[in-house]
Amino acid sequence: MKARGLYLHFPFCARKCSYCDFPSFPGKERYMAPYLGALLKEIGGYNKEKGEKYRISTIFMGGGTPTLFNGDHLAGALDKCRECFNVDEDAEITIESNPGTVDHKKLLVLRKSGFNRLSIGLQAWQDRLLKFLGRIHTAREFEDAVLMAQKAGFENINADVIFGIPGQSLEDWLETLKRTAALNVTHISAYSLIVEEGTPLYKLKQKGLPGEVAEDAEREMYHKGVDLLERLGFYRYEISNFARPGYECRHNLNYWKNGEYIGCGSGAHQYLDGVRSYNTPDLEAYIEMMSKTGNASLGSEKIDRDQEVFETLMLGFRLTEGIGKDDFHKRFGFDLSERYSDRISALKREGLVLEDDTAIRPTARGFDFQNQIALTFLD
Ligand code: SF4
Repeated sequence: MKARGLYLHFPFCARKCSYCDFPSFPGKERYMAPYLGALLKEIGGYNKEKGEKYRISTIFMGGGTPTLFNGDHLAGALDKCRECFNVDEDAEITIESNPGTVDHKKLLVLRKSGFNRLSIGLQAWQDRLLKFLGRIHTAREFEDAVLMAQKAGFENINADVIFGIPGQSLEDWLETLKRTAALNVTHISAYSLIVEEGTPLYKLKQKGLPGEVAEDAEREMYHKGVDLLERLGFYRYEISNFARPGYECRHNLNYWKNGEYIGCGSGAHQYLDGVRSYNTPDLEAYIEMMSKTGNASLGSEKIDRDQEVFETLMLGFRLTEGIGKDDFHKRFGFDLSERYSDRISALKREGLVLEDDTAIRPTARGFDFQNQIALTFLD
């Protein structure tokens, strides 16, 4: 029986951050109760029929800000997952949160109900940058959230941080990493700020953003950040993700290994039995569709073998461990090195990948040329 990930989406936020293009909505509190009902109904659709068949090894409640819901509701959603799916005893169960939406009592309820990994959005240690990003909290409130979570029994804690923010200096960035690591978090996700079309930040950028970080300065932040995190006991296991040994995010590793997953909630995607499908990202439409038909899917796409091979390579080269030769052979029935010998040799000549008996993996330089590596395998 294959193990899969289960993702539940919670599309509510206290306020929209200036850079955010995720399907999450502020000011929609009145929909929280009907949304939860719809979500439980979607999970309930897997009861027996699929719950017996599909083993779940990781659950990730993301958003949005799931912790805007009260602890008992979130614990109830987790109970429903256990009732409807065959969830592993040692499953990794993550919930995303933001400072200001958790307190000791809520964290205690979450930990007791079985959540064993907490992801907290920080983004930057400097309050002026948090304000610029439209975050609802200060660095001090992040610190309080981590300490409360540890007191409530969360040992496995991720912090999300961003570099390349207009007005952020290299020193600001390294201070963010140092202060975050000093709180004994086990995992740090560090993404470069992408200004997506349609966001408030995009509009600002059109007018010219003061303090915009140039590309070479942004690369310097990345490289110096990697070095610092390594000195602080974190290793880069994926291009943007750093963990203390043994604390890699199993849920996301499944995505990067192009594994299958089930998604429930508005905007959730799913990849199951070779078919990728997605729910409507429209909150109200999701509630209505679930209530009327018990199905909120907007469409699906069959992933053929060639596409699956390409996606497995594209995602796998994001990982430090790269692509395991045996796993690849078991999955696709052919030898990776033989089939792509010319292309792999070219990448090796350019110093972008390394090959040994067990795997082909990106070099330190290869992490900077991910697109080039991926395009090499595009037919
Ligand atoms: S808290 Fe996260 S999901 Fe919500 S608006 Fe900000 S970045 Fe988007």
